[in-house]
Amino acid sequence: MNNFDYARATDITEAVKLKAATPEAKFIAGGTNLIDLMKYHVEQPRRLIDISRLPLNAVEETGTGGVRIGALVPNSTLAYHPVIERRYPLLASAILAGASAQLRNMASTGGNLLQRTRCAYFYDVSTPCNKRRPGDGCSAIEGLNRNHAILGSSASCIATHPSDMCVALAALEATVHVTGGQGERSIAFADFHRLPGDRPDLDNTLRADEIITAIELPAQGFAANYSYLKIRDRLSYAFALVSVAAALELENGRIREARLALGGVAHKPWRSEAAEAALRGQTPERASLERAADILLHDARPHRHNAFKLPLARRAIVRTLTQAADGTPQIQSIKSIR
Ligand SMILES: Cc1cc2nc3c(=O)[nH]c(=O)nc-3n(C[C@H](O)[C@H](O)[C@H](O)COP(=O)(O)OP(=O)(O)OC[C@H]3O[C@@H](n4cnc5c(N)ncnc54)[C@H](O)[C@@H]3O)c2cc1C
Ligand code: SF4
Repeated sequence: MNNFDYARATDITEAVKLKAATPEAKFIAGGTNLIDLMKYHVEQPRRLIDISRLPLNAVEETGTGGVRIGALVPNSTLAYHPVIERRYPLLASAILAGASAQLRNMASTGGNLLQRTRCAYFYDVSTPCNKRRPGDGCSAIEGLNRNHAILGSSASCIATHPSDMCVALAALEATVHVTGGQGERSIAFADFHRLPGDRPDLDNTLRADEIITAIELPAQGFAANYSYLKIRDRLSYAFALVSVAAALELENGRIREARLALGGVAHKPWRSEAAEAALRGQTPERASLERAADILLHDARPHRHNAFKLPLARRAIVRTLTQAADGTPQIQSIKSIR
């Protein structure tokens, strides 16, 4: 690990000022991703700004019927928070599908959004990687790309975003609240993470001096009809090959509102307006669910080792939507898929 300075911010204003003064500095929250990246020399910040003691650890219901989650709320606290369990079980379920209990105790809500890809070449500094150093080339395109993207990739990068929690936040249409030198702003979740394009080094639209302060959930939590299904090589402690967050609102046996987001397939949680529109007004029978899956996957472009993700994703979408419609969500402590 390289030498670095350490500073602890006492409030948000100080955190933003410290970051603006040293743009190559990094905030550190739980440290579960950043410290690994530093050990591998992927990240070499000159300074760490410890934000872990900032007062951003509340989960509060808002005046508009939603919930505001502080950026430092640990993943485990959030998953077991009574309001989240009762009103947003999709989010609780997705969090519990990720990492391990110990990691979830350390990992923060804001840090989860900003965790970096698990592309093995990204972590191996002896190989070219455009995300680490733009212009160097992408080792995965002609290399081992079993875990990589099938949607939204570019000639520069085919990495996926590894978060489970973010797939649920995408389906729930959360908002990310941030503060920076130019003040506060809110970013729709769909606009927070980026596709790689020709700047795969940029994972998201956060500015250099901005800190995430909170994530806000809208009032609709889809607590009756939801499911999060994660397919991985091992049944625990592994990142998703494909994951699906499904949330439905049913009325008289028909789908009134549908949300469908995929993880493990793109540089960001993947949603398709057309697929969700195709579900609205339908009964949740297999043919309608398969049609939505086909629409969502229409533009998928697999690489040499990951063509299996296409049929896997199609089946996972149909299964997850069926679980949601039946009110029998995947239970994360039971590893068999129903
Ligand atoms: C072995 C292992 C297995 C894992 N498995 C899974 C899994 O299956 N599913 C899954 O979803 N995740 C998994 N994770 C990832 C884990 O969820 C993330 O590492 C964690 O959420 C990151 O949060 P953190 O607070 O530790 O972030 P840190 O490591 O502290 O920070 C990560 C990044 O976010 C920035 N940052 C942190 N907070 C803020 C903020 N408030 N504002 C601005 N920038 C900020 C930091 O500067 C850094 O760049 C796994 C991790 C490990 C090590
Ligand atoms: S897929 Fe992206 S992260 Fe992986 S080697 Fe290529 S450029 Fe780097």
